[in-house]
Amino acid sequence: MDMHIHPIKAFNDNYIWTLINKNNKQAIVIDPGQSAPVAEYMQEHGLELISIWTTHHHFDHTGGVMELQEYFPMSHIVAHSEHGVEEDQTIKDGSTVSAWGCSTQVWDIPGHTGSHIAYVLDNEGRKHCFCGDTLFSGGCGRVFTGTIEQLFGSFKRINELPADTLLYPAHEYTANNLRFALTIEPDNVVIQQALAQAEEQTAQGVCTLPVTLEHERAVNVFLRVKEPSVIAGVQAKMALKDEEPLTVFAALRELKDNF
Ligand SMILES: [Zn+2]
Repeated sequence: MDMHIHPIKAFNDNYIWTLINKNNKQAIVIDPGQSAPVAEYMQEHGLELISIWTTHHHFDHTGGVMELQEYFPMSHIVAHSEHGVEEDQTIKDGSTVSAWGCSTQVWDIPGHTGSHIAYVLDNEGRKHCFCGDTLFSGGCGRVFTGTIEQLFGSFKRINELPADTLLYPAHEYTANNLRFALTIEPDNVVIQQALAQAEEQTAQGVCTLPVTLEHERAVNVFLRVKEPSVIAGVQAKMALKDEEPLTVFAALRELKDNF
């Protein structure tokens, strides 16, 4: 179907991903941490908000939900029972959500939080994964109420999607993540080029997202934990008890926490 996917900016660096059905002027928003930017966008473009989806309970992803439902009383809230919103449809791993007939699978991708989920939408054979604060371009979310083992498992699961899947993280952290990645893999030309591009886009206020999974496999060190260059880059900074992917992944997260 003729769907446009647009990032509405919120706070300093959040993106509220908005699915727009061009035929009937309806919209769905994902993770509205603020209501005003969404309400303004809907008004400016003559759109009707029909549904609100959340990926996890953090306030910068849910803070605008109840106000938006007041502005758009017919809108339908889709959330996990632990997201702290009064959802109309309670979802969990394996649930299906519909976007104008486009099937969207709900996946548990815990780690950042314990009840973080992803929406994997299929439109005309191309997958679109709304991954919240789990995977960012060039990096990953911090571990708050989940565990590093869960986050590692969630990355493995995302990595099983087709290479041309488009990933839609909820923050503009790309340039910072790639700067960190270059401290691990300083000679990686693809990461160098991606950083130059992300810095230019960010300076112009242009969103660096979405990105393909294929691109992330090339630039995201958290998806590259089996690469000898990544293992060596981590070992240059800290001692590893072994070179198992989870060990390298956890060490990268620790190094990024202190970057
Ligand atoms: Zn979060």
